[in-house]
Amino acid sequence: MRAAVVTVGDELLSGDTVDTNASWLCNRLDERGVSVERITTVPDRIADIARVINEYRAEYDAVLVTGGVGPTHDDMTMDGVATAFGREVVHSEAAEEWLVEHTDYAAADLTEGTTHLPAGARMLPNPEGVAPGAALDRVYVLPGVPGEMKAMFEEVAEEFEGDHTHVEVVRTAEPESALIDRIETVREEFDVTVGSYPGDDVRLKLTAGDPETAAAAAAWLRERVDPA
Ligand code: ATP
Ligand code: MG
Repeated sequence: MRAAVVTVGDELLSGDTVDTNASWLCNRLDERGVSVERITTVPDRIADIARVINEYRAEYDAVLVTGGVGPTHDDMTMDGVATAFGREVVHSEAAEEWLVEHTDYAAADLTEGTTHLPAGARMLPNPEGVAPGAALDRVYVLPGVPGEMKAMFEEVAEEFEGDHTHVEVVRTAEPESALIDRIETVREEFDVTVGSYPGDDVRLKLTAGDPETAAAAAAWLRERVDPA
């Protein structure tokens, strides 16, 4: 399964908020074997949200959108998703029922728009907050508040599944430029992809389709590089 993550919010683009939702989602999807191929941040603007969702739902098996969900004036995401599908946002009975049952709100107290979802969307309950999420075709809309986003993702996590890969990490004190020959050989000898990540030391990440291949490639490298 190939996926894209879209985060919505002017505060992300101005640098006021660090986009921790994208990295958290990428981690969880990666754990599930899903290959995330795009992270895109868009402003709170219906046309921008709709355009990127339309592009990504044509290309990827799943599109996860976070932020701008809810009834406040700057929350445009449900409208953007509805526009991408050529639909209206409409009152969701399922959302109202869930809120009345699980929160202290009576139906009459809910802020106008709280239960509005793109027509035909499945309501995703918000176990940590009020504003519901939505799933429509392959597009999943989650809240921006990190705790709410995480709780809602976990409710649908099993809908995201890919090929499981096996990772081994080898650390070395050698500079990246000195490692080129051994990285080339390990890629030729073993069915692995190799990521090279310099920092205080260099982290070589070996990814394979089975644990034996990952372990054999890591052992081969450990014998041939200076340890960190
Ligand atoms: P609400 O219903 O409370 O309005 P929301 O889904 O509309 O929630 P936003 O209004 O976009 O979410 O953001 C709510 C809070 O979550 C803000 O403090 C925002 O900075 C934070 N937030 C939004 N997106 C992200 C993100 N990608 N990473 C980290 N924090 C985020
Ligand atoms: Mg909001």
